[in-house]
Amino acid sequence: MITLLLLVAAIVGCLVVMRREAGALPAVAVLAVLGVLGLVLDAEIIGVLLLIAAAGIAICGLKPLRRLWLSPRLFKVFKKIAPKVSETERVALDAGTVAWDGELFSGRPDWKRLLAFDNPGLSDEEQAFIDHQCAVAAGMCNAWEIARERADMPPELWDYLKKERFFGMIIPKAYGGLEFSAKAQSAVLQKLAFNETLMSTVGVPNSLGPGELLLKYGTEEQKNHYLPRLADGRDIPCFALTGPRAGSDATSIPDVGIVCRGMHEGKEVLGLKLTFEKRWITLAPIATVVGLAFRMFDPDNLLERGESDIGISCALIPRETEGMQIGRRHHPIGSPFMNGPIRGKDVFIPLDYLIGGLEMAGQGWRMLVECLSVGRCITLPSGAAGTGRYAVGWTGGFARIRRQFNIAVADMEGVQEPLARLAAKAYISQAAVMQTANTIDHGVKPAVPSAILKSQLTEFQREMMIDAMDVHGGRTVTLGPRNYLGIGFSATPVSITVEGANIMTRNLMIFGQGAIRCHPYVLDELAAKDSNDFAAFDKLFFRHTGLIFGNAARAFTQALGLGRAEVPFDSLAKPYAQEVARLSSAFGLCADAAMASLGAKLKQREMISARLGDVLSNLYLLSMVLKQWHDSDRVDGEAALFHYSCRFLLNRAEQALVELYENLPNRALAHLLAGITMPLGRRWHKPQDSLTRDIAKAISTDTALRHKLTRNTWDSWEEGQQENPLARYNALLANAERAETIYRTLAKARAKRELPEAALHPEQWIEAGLEAGLLSEEDAVFMRAHEAEVLDMLTVDDFDFDAFTSQQPSANHERQTHTTPA
Ligand SMILES: Cc1cc2nc3c(=O)[nH]c(=O)nc-3n(C[C@H](O)[C@H](O)[C@H](O)COP(=O)(O)OP(=O)(O)OC[C@H]3O[C@@H](n4cnc5c(N)ncnc54)[C@H](O)[C@@H]3O)c2cc1C
Repeated sequence: MITLLLLVAAIVGCLVVMRREAGALPAVAVLAVLGVLGLVLDAEIIGVLLLIAAAGIAICGLKPLRRLWLSPRLFKVFKKIAPKVSETERVALDAGTVAWDGELFSGRPDWKRLLAFDNPGLSDEEQAFIDHQCAVAAGMCNAWEIARERADMPPELWDYLKKERFFGMIIPKAYGGLEFSAKAQSAVLQKLAFNETLMSTVGVPNSLGPGELLLKYGTEEQKNHYLPRLADGRDIPCFALTGPRAGSDATSIPDVGIVCRGMHEGKEVLGLKLTFEKRWITLAPIATVVGLAFRMFDPDNLLERGESDIGISCALIPRETEGMQIGRRHHPIGSPFMNGPIRGKDVFIPLDYLIGGLEMAGQGWRMLVECLSVGRCITLPSGAAGTGRYAVGWTGGFARIRRQFNIAVADMEGVQEPLARLAAKAYISQAAVMQTANTIDHGVKPAVPSAILKSQLTEFQREMMIDAMDVHGGRTVTLGPRNYLGIGFSATPVSITVEGANIMTRNLMIFGQGAIRCHPYVLDELAAKDSNDFAAFDKLFFRHTGLIFGNAARAFTQALGLGRAEVPFDSLAKPYAQEVARLSSAFGLCADAAMASLGAKLKQREMISARLGDVLSNLYLLSMVLKQWHDSDRVDGEAALFHYSCRFLLNRAEQALVELYENLPNRALAHLLAGITMPLGRRWHKPQDSLTRDIAKAISTDTALRHKLTRNTWDSWEEGQQENPLARYNALLANAERAETIYRTLAKARAKRELPEAALHPEQWIEAGLEAGLLSEEDAVFMRAHEAEVLDMLTVDDFDFDAFTSQQPSANHERQTHTTPA
């Protein structure tokens, strides 16, 4: 009995010391005291074992002892196995800052740090711009005309965008820009996601490109010249990095600039002779100024730097520069935004064209990566969140007015599943992008979250579009001016591919960058290795060991429901925040285990790295949902969506861990990790059907939740604007309850054969119902108008036989048209 008590006391004592990462000394003290107690109480065996354990920990863990024998050996091994960080990777690692992503890596997230990012919302000026200018711009878009007839936006829309400085959202007011907060930029792009060509066209100049590069690195002269011109659209920029040989591996660009003398504006000056071939460059066909990334060489040492290969550099080149071949177009799938190749051979530019001047020559990669951390958080994730909100509005509306088998398809469980999934992804996307933008407004430059948001939200975008299309059935399969979804659906691969293709971002970047950048110790350990600083290594390594034991103890005890984390949330959110804390410990432990067991090979084991990245991504997204829940006013029915979203993300995080355990090459380690982090198995299953039903109902009826999800979208309509399907659905839903009652009355009457058998159309039922005294005249008037509007919303386009061909119809088809009865 005493033996058992001592054993339990030793385990509990060690777990408490480990959870607190209190170091070796308290552990030694606990075991030594219990060991002596064992000897005193005649439990010699356990007493001796505990004393041996205490001695073992003392020798390995106490600083004076371990430095004598253990640390030097470990330092030697570490130097051998630690991954080499290439220059490209180092630049990427140095870019941006670490905030909440670092907390998740620590295994004991401090929620106060997240909640400290207070959210004052949008300024009046920003909100007014979103309410008015964005609505006007969206109202000028006819998707069919833009995509199929014009392959461009109409000139009056271009003029409006320039006049209202949509291209200058990131440019300070001092230079004539709008100087919007990151949140406002995101809200603008979400609203413009009504049309993907509009969203991309406005998004790109406000993201990574000449504007941002000039703001951060430009010389005063460059800023004074270009920024006012970019802000009001006199200059349209593009940025050219990608070429036929360099896509994802962008640092391998073969485009060169050779330092030489040449003629510029009638004078001989020092400059660069550029030879380049770029493709897929957004806005290139109409750009007036081209940001170009190239490799700079000075073979004749004209710059007197004593180096020939200066490195990647960026220049800003006017379109009319002699030798620029620009103006041809690519045709991006679904959305014909301006995109095309740029080529040039021996194009001479003066050194003044280098962004930031000669001082920034060779710093191009660092400049690009630093800008990417902010721009990548905003443009594509906002497009995804906005697309999701429109998809909720349109799909919820359609599912309510489309009736089959005598009921609205929104009331069929099979349809409710995609509806709820869609709503949850839109809700999560909106929380993630707005809360991350809020951290940017507080000065954070979120490098790892930018990769998470880019890949996860554009993936959601694709899935949301698939769900929306499925629910709409043939209504959006059929292309034409009435189809508000199909063109956007076909454009989703663009977001998946640009700004870091998703497969690479998920597999390589999120965890690969995060493991070193966000880990509390790894980056410093590598620095200690590089500077051969033994004392620093010893200190960091043993703190790191403490973290590993701490994470193991926290993950294990919390999985058993013991010692749950203290979290500053209300009773609804608390269990989810506690689960984020638990899984963050599990994630931290697994990340260290994977790095230790695979070492430098982890870089190649991308499937392992991707799963770790998935755990981190889902925990990050969930934290943003919790922050939004904490900050914002809630509406009726939102709790169901909140529960659904949290469970959906926790289920995905656990799934990624399970797959990690199933595939970690070191099987013993995999079983150990599974035993520590999931001793009772998985905790989170997919959201329950009851939540699915509640959410589907809420987004397909006129509810506060539907309005919240579609807030700040274009949902109004004014004379002269293009059709607004969301406004029409909203109007129909406002009447849906009254219509439903009448549908039911008529359906009952038909079932009882109280209406003539020949009355097959709803329009005929209405007239028959009026005649039979089942409907009042007022109801009939209402219902006629309602049915006419429903039918119009369900109608698809048809075209002349030869409307799609620019060639003459073939003889065979001609014959067929002649024989088709009129
Ligand atoms: C419509 C459009 C607009 C664009 N706009 C611009 C622009 O304005 N300026 C500009 O400079 N560029 C632009 N791009 C280029 C874009 O950023 C690149 O297309 C993108 O980075 C991917 O390069 P890639 O298509 O050559 O894919 P590839 O590099 O050929 O990759 C093929 C596949 O392999 C995967 N892959 C590659 N490396 C890895 C890895 N290490 N691990 C796992 N998977 C990997 C990728 O994820 C991808 O799925 C645009 C592209 C398109 C299509």
